[in-house]
Amino acid sequence: MKAVVNPDDCIGCGICAQVAPDVYEMKDDKAVAGVEEIPEDKLEDAKSAADQCPVNAIVIS
Ligand code: SF4
Repeated sequence: MKAVVNPDDCIGCGICAQVAPDVYEMKDDKAVAGVEEIPEDKLEDAKSAADQCPVNAIVIS
């Protein structure tokens, strides 16, 4: 599965990078998915981060 951060929605709060640092990273005050494919053992963290994003900027599909 892949995670995509919508840069137009991201407010750069950094929560996702704290919750799932192996999946998301901050770049120029916006979050980006640092991995092409979410590792199986990081999927729950990736989803948890998406749930905690205050502006729902993260789509996992
Ligand atoms: S949690 Fe959402 S708003 Fe905050 S940095 Fe991550 S994608 Fe951006």
